[in-house]
Amino acid sequence: MDTEVTIVMYHYIREIKSSRFPGIKGLEIKDFKGQVEFLRHNYNIISVEHLIAAIHEGEKLPPKAALLTFDDAYIDHYMHAFPILQNLGIQGSFYVPAKMIIENKVLDVNKIHFVLATMQDVNLLIKQLFKEIDIIRREFELPDNEVLYKTYAITNGKDTGEVMFVKRMLQKVLPQPYRSELVNRMFEEAIGMDEVAFSKELYINKEQMRHMIAGGMHLGNHTYSHPWLNTLSTPEQKMEILSCNKLLEDVGVDMENWTMCFPHGGHNEDTLSILKDLGCKLGFSVKVKVANTKNDNFLALPRLDTNDLPKSLNK
Ligand SMILES: [Zn+2]
Repeated sequence: MDTEVTIVMYHYIREIKSSRFPGIKGLEIKDFKGQVEFLRHNYNIISVEHLIAAIHEGEKLPPKAALLTFDDAYIDHYMHAFPILQNLGIQGSFYVPAKMIIENKVLDVNKIHFVLATMQDVNLLIKQLFKEIDIIRREFELPDNEVLYKTYAITNGKDTGEVMFVKRMLQKVLPQPYRSELVNRMFEEAIGMDEVAFSKELYINKEQMRHMIAGGMHLGNHTYSHPWLNTLSTPEQKMEILSCNKLLEDVGVDMENWTMCFPHGGHNEDTLSILKDLGCKLGFSVKVKVANTKNDNFLALPRLDTNDLPKSLNK
């Protein structure tokens, strides 16, 4: 019996080279089309409901099963992925960080992407960061800049060490609230645009969520504010998950079959037991592997990144 399913993860999908932010790291629309074509020829693309039935009711999976997942509720998904998938009768699963839609905020991680995309020279950003860290150090104990740089300026294979240093400092290493304040300031300087307006340009809205459901798409939980769940207490984790479910319910998601995707992949034993208690049917992590319904925990299924697969039929 087939137990393998290749779960593909997507983020930005847009015309990048010809856009206002040609430096943004994402997938060109033509490459998305090419990859979907590749997958249709080499895999059997299934729906989330099919995977739920396979895991919970022993229904058969086709050979070479694949599932398409989209993180962060970008407008890109509504504008570019949804119409392509709908035309082909393929389902995508879209994971929504509720706060961005309800309060028109922009994720820190997205602000950092756009700051990096507008910077000609990442070394200028690192210089600025060092100055800011010197100020934070007056109130907060932090290692020397040189030590920080040595520890965190390490490539992850996709981004250079310099870029990873900026990302790690602004996403995790610097303490709150300094970190978010600094990200906000850098975002305002680089983009010069109001957060609410930018949020409305970047993410889908509730009406679009309803269209996507009516068009056969699956919408799932990506928490309320997109934290690393494994850094939160159990009640905080539960609150993050429930507040997002409220939005999903509001736009008409079938809550008998709700699914979860962990922001940044962050989760722990508490997360899994909360999900179990709340009747979550599937969970997705960012561990890079083809999922196996027999061996992998269904609440923390691994995924492949779009960049791990060919982007056209002929490659
Ligand atoms: Zn995310």
